[in-house]
Formats: sequence, structure tokens, C-alpha cells
Amino acid sequence: MSTAPRRIRMHERDNVAIVVNDGGLPAGTRFEDGLCLVDAVPQGHKLALHAIAAGQPVLRYGVCIGHARQPIATGAWVHERLLQMPEARALDQPLPRPEPAPALAPLAGYSFQGYRNADGSVGTRNILAISTTVQCVAGVLNLALQRIKAELLPLYPNVDDVVAIEHAYGCGVAIDAPGAEIPIRTLRNLALNPNFGGEVMLVSLGCEKLQPDRLLPPGSLPIADAQASSRVRLQDEQHVGLGSMLDSILAQARAHLERLNRRQRETVPASELVVGLQCGGSDAFSGVTANPALGFCADLLVRAGATVMFSEVTEVRDAVDQLVSRAADAEVAEAIQRELAWYDAYLQRGRSDRSANTTPGNKAGGLSNIVEKAMGSVVKSGTAPIAGVVPPGERACSKGLLFAATPASDFVCGTLQLAAGMNMHVFTTGRGTPYGLAACPVIKVATRTELATRWHDLMDLDAGRIASGEASIETMGWELFHLMLDVASGRRTWSERWGLHNAMVLFSPAPIT
Ligand code: CA
Repeated sequence: MSTAPRRIRMHERDNVAIVVNDGGLPAGTRFEDGLCLVDAVPQGHKLALHAIAAGQPVLRYGVCIGHARQPIATGAWVHERLLQMPEARALDQPLPRPEPAPALAPLAGYSFQGYRNADGSVGTRNILAISTTVQCVAGVLNLALQRIKAELLPLYPNVDDVVAIEHAYGCGVAIDAPGAEIPIRTLRNLALNPNFGGEVMLVSLGCEKLQPDRLLPPGSLPIADAQASSRVRLQDEQHVGLGSMLDSILAQARAHLERLNRRQRETVPASELVVGLQCGGSDAFSGVTANPALGFCADLLVRAGATVMFSEVTEVRDAVDQLVSRAADAEVAEAIQRELAWYDAYLQRGRSDRSANTTPGNKAGGLSNIVEKAMGSVVKSGTAPIAGVVPPGERACSKGLLFAATPASDFVCGTLQLAAGMNMHVFTTGRGTPYGLAACPVIKVATRTELATRWHDLMDLDAGRIASGEASIETMGWELFHLMLDVASGRRTWSERWGLHNAMVLFSPAPIT
């Protein structure tokens, strides 16, 4: 990258821009157009393009991200301490009416090699998942898992992996309390993720509150072949000692692996992708490079007929007007409003609000507050009309761009997107995170070239080339689209190659007893 001072302004109304150069720029730096910095400004942080009077709005992405607490000089560093964050838009007032953009032009001719499932979904991986009703069985299951990986998996080369859906729920919980339906339906829908091939294997204890029939009610499985479902209960009298429990689990696993191993990849249209979008460890470049490129790619996916989910409620809360006006119809607009209002109430119970979202790393990376972070986060949803809303733990059942209402916490969001049926995950990061999931490939996109270079064996794509002018948002979006089709067809991501897997973490808003 050239060493000439560079800055990026996102919208013509903006009175701030961010510094692009690695290491930031010292006071006295003069830009090509004559603008001179009066403070040192770190990389990714904002500088004032004009003098801003006290009380005046500071505009980024064309929206007010805060009001100046004191006069700000031209060329000054606009950091979080200078900004008074705006109030959140009340959700009980009338919001704009949906005025969705016209549907995007279809994009035909793109496909990948996937695994077709009996329920109509398509997997990008061929994985045996073992569901559990309760944490009590985790130790036994982990021993079984070690043996399955060592003794059985090598016999079934078409099976990619075996994963346990381990969790802290299932007992010692107020199972009928409001909110308890969320972890329960999450576990049910996780078992049905397309990457698990329709094989549902369940290990339970016996005395727990979350009984197998409550987790997977008879008749609830969209699987024609009853053989594809099996249960092992550790407290059954047939089990004499640990060894017999392990033998039962291994015997069931073997039957599932036999069937999974017979599956073959086949050519399927790109419309079978169910893509979950997420960001984490965000910086000011997230909303300039990686997220806009992902937004462009999201539009390509929607045009190809795929399902694309954006999530992270606290990171889109301040974009509520934009989301509601993008809703495909009034019903979707109401559902967006309902989910955001539910989450406001949830945060209020913890005496928190959306401002609890931003981390020290976000702020060090140049994001002053949640409003600025939200505007940079929501651009990854692209421009398509919002076709539907998926409440937490529910499975997505329509195509197009969907708002899957989940917390922003990386692991909770990823888990809920898996429950929604995600078969491909894209994760943008500026500060850097080694995030990965065992159940689904995760493509990690760096917002800055410096991160992509330093984490050369962790980042799958360098969107920092947009900031340096080497790539455009459009070319990067296309590159990501093609990478996604390759990964969906079996190409392994860095986190898969290293086996970097985070735990699945349930969103469990109901009380523990
Ligand atoms: Ca996140």
C-alpha cells in the first residue's frame, strides 16, 4: 500500500472520514486536498472534515452517530469522548411504512456440489450430530465421541465429522417459564440442521426435565425413514456400568454412520445455500470494507434464489427505520418491530440497553458507540427487500433475505443460525477472532490487509484490499460469492483445516432453578 495519507468517507453528507493508513497518521499530516490533521488519528478512527459546533450532529453513513459535546476543529480526532450518543428510536411510535426496493434481478447459472436431504434441504458437509437432552450425559458422550472418532470414523470416509450437541440446558431449569421455548426449539432445530443429513441420534439421561419426547415430539421429525432416528438412555436398566453405555452409543453411531457414508455430493443450484452472516471483533473498517462486500455478495445470493440471514439484534437496533422501510410487506415490518421490542424488554430486565454491546476492542478500533457500529453492521445485509423474520430458535422456511433475530454474541448467534438451518457461515472481523463451528464451514473475512497478513492461516479472504484501492466492493463481493460456492462444495476453510471450533451456546432467557 502507498504511504500517502488516505481517508474514507462513506456518504456525501458525512462530516467525518476514517483514516486508512496502517499505524494511523500524525498531527500535521496534510492530505492531497489540503486538509490538515490537528491531532494524531489512529488507523480506523474518525477525523473531522469540517468544524463541528457543540451540539451539532456528527454524521457517518449519512446518519447521526452522536452530537458533539464540545466544538470540534477541522482535522481533529473525533473520538468517543467527544460524542453524545443519540437516544434509541422508540418502538411504540409509528415507524416508516415499508417501501422495499423492487425485487433484485434473478441470477441464474450458479451451482455447488451438495448433499441432498430427504426433507428437501441440502447439506454442505456430511456430519453425524449426536443430540443430548441434558448436560449430565456430556462426560459419557465425550468418552464415546473419542472412541467414535478413533475407531469408527476411519471406516466411513465419506463422513466429514461427528459432533456432540452439548449444552447446559435440560434440567435445573424453569422449563415452563416464558422464554424456555427458545432453548428447547433451538435444540430441536439444531438436530435437523441440513449438514446432519437427516440422521437424528439422541442421548438422554432418564430423570431430566427435558424428556426426549419433549425435545423431539413424536411425529415432529420431517424424516420419512424412522431408522434415521435413534435414542440411547443412560439410566436404562440394560446399562450395567460405563462400558455398556459406551457400547450402546457406539452401536447407534455405527448405524447412522453407515447411512451417512452412502451419500454422495451432487450438483445443486446456488439457491440451496442457507447463509448466516455475522461479524465479531469489529473495527471501523468493518463497515467500510468487509461488510459492504458481504452486502454486495448477499444481494448476489438473494438474486440466485438462496436464503440469507442477518442477525445480531443490538447491532441493527439503531437501524430500525431502515429495516422497517426495507420490509417486503407490513407483516414483516411488524415482525421486525416485535422482535426488537422483545429484545429491548429483555435487556431492560438486566438494566441494560443496546449500549452494552460495544467492547473495548471495538472502541480501540475506532467505533465510538453502538450507533456507529450498527450502521457498519447492517450494510452486510445488502439492499434486497427483507422477505421474512425468524424468531430465535426457529427454522427458516423461506428464501430471500431474512432477519433472524438473535443476540450479537458470536457463539449464540452462530448457534441460532445453525438452528435456523444455516449450511454456510460468513464472518467478518477487524480486530481478529479465530471463531469456528464444527457443524458448518465458516468463511472468515478480514476488514484490514494488516490483519489478513498477520493472521495468514486464519483468515479466508482479505477485504482490506478495498481500503487500499486494490479491489472494489463489487469485485470483492464476487470473489466471496465464488469462494462460498467452492467451500459449499467441500473446500475447507482455515478454521476447518485447524479444527478450530467454538462451543454451541444456547440462548436461554428463562430462569435456572
Ligand atoms: Ca457477533
